[in-house]
Amino acid sequence: MGDYELFDITIIGGGTTGLFATYYATMRNMKVKLLESQSQFGGKVMQFFPEKLIYDVGGYPDISGEDLVKQMITQANQHQPVMLTDRWVESIEKNSDHFILYTSKGEQHATKAILLATGSGTFHTKTPDNWDALPFPEFRKHIATNLMNREKYHNKNVVITANNKVGVGWALYLKDHAKSVTVVNPDSKFHQVKEEDLEQLLNTSIQVHMESHITNIDVKENQLQSVEINKEEQETLTVETDELLTYHGLELQATPLDNWSVDTYKGRIPVKGDMATNVPGIFASGDIVQYEGKTNLIASGYSEAITAVNKAHLFIDPRATEQLYSTVLYR
Ligand SMILES: Cc1cc2nc3c(=O)[nH]c(=O)nc-3n(C[C@H](O)[C@H](O)[C@H](O)COP(=O)(O)OP(=O)(O)OC[C@H]3O[C@@H](n4cnc5c(N)ncnc54)[C@H](O)[C@@H]3O)c2cc1C
Repeated sequence: MGDYELFDITIIGGGTTGLFATYYATMRNMKVKLLESQSQFGGKVMQFFPEKLIYDVGGYPDISGEDLVKQMITQANQHQPVMLTDRWVESIEKNSDHFILYTSKGEQHATKAILLATGSGTFHTKTPDNWDALPFPEFRKHIATNLMNREKYHNKNVVITANNKVGVGWALYLKDHAKSVTVVNPDSKFHQVKEEDLEQLLNTSIQVHMESHITNIDVKENQLQSVEINKEEQETLTVETDELLTYHGLELQATPLDNWSVDTYKGRIPVKGDMATNVPGIFASGDIVQYEGKTNLIASGYSEAITAVNKAHLFIDPRATEQLYSTVLYR
C-alpha cells in the first residue's frame, strides 16, 4: 500500500517507541501510517529479548518482551492506523507542503510530518555460510531465530545451529523440555559463552557437533523430517529433527539519516525538549535520540513519542492543542 494518499504523520520504525507513537497519534485524531522494515513489529525487543521478562514498564510487575509487543500492537491498532511491515524507508523528499517517503520496494508514501522512531537501525539475522545452498528456500525463511512459543519444542527432536551464547542458552533451556537437543557449531568454539554454561553443555545429554555444518534438510508437507550434519572429512550424520533453530548473530543496517539531511552526532539525533530534528516537520524519539539525561529504555521512548506527536500535530495545525490533559477528553 504505497500511494499519494496524504497522511498527517508517518512514523518510521515499528519498535516499542513507534508502536506507542502510532497509538498516541491516532488518539490525537491524526491520520497515521507506520512503516517498519522487518517482517514483524517490536524492534529490538522482539529481536533481542522476546522471552526475557521486563520489569520497568509501568503497569506490569513483569511482562515478557513478546507479550508486551502483542499488547502494544493491539493498542496501536485500536483506531485504524495504517501499519505496514517489510517497508525499509530509503529516502525522503520534501515537496512544497509535504514529504514523500520512498521505500526499497519502490513505493511512495506522502505525509505532512514524520516521526523517526528508528532506534539504531534494523538488525538482520546472520546465517551460516552455506545456508543459501540448502534446499527448501521457502521453508528456511521461517526457521526460528528466537525461542518464542517455547511450548512447541516440548518432547520434540530439536537441532540448533549456533556459534554463540544465545544458542548455548537455548540448548540448556531445551534439554529439560525437548526429546533430544543437538547443537551444530561451524566454528571451533562458542563465542561469548560463560565457562559454567559451556561445561554444562558438554556434560549433559545434548549432542554437540563442533566445526560442523548442516549440509541438507529434508522437509515433507512443510514439516521438517531430518537434517544432515557434516564435519569435514568425516562421515555425514542424519538426525531425525522436528524443529530447527538458528542463531549466528545479528548485523546492523543503519538508517540512512545523513541522506535525509537529518543532523546526527555519534550516530544519534540530538534533540531538545520538543523532540524536533533540524528538519522542520521531522521529529524523533526513542533510542535514536540523544539529549542530556537520556535513558535508553522502553518507557523513555513512550514519553518522548508523546512530545514528538504533540509537536508534530502543532506543526501541521497551529490551532491544535499542545497536549491532551486527560484521556477523559479524548474523542
Ligand atoms: C538485550 C537488551 C535488553 C533490554 N532490556 C530492557 C529492559 O528490560 N527494559 C527496558 O525498558 N529497556 C530494555 N532495553 C532497551 C530497549 O530495548 C530499547 O530502549 C527499546 O527497544 C527502544 O525502542 P525503539 O522503538 O526506540 O527502537 P528499536 O526497538 O530499535 O526499533 C526501531 C525500529 O525501527 C526500524 N527501522 C529502522 N530504520 C528503518 C527504516 N529506514 N525504515 C523502516 N524501519 C526502520 C527497525 O527495524 C526497528 O524495528 C534492552 C535492550 C537490549 C538490547
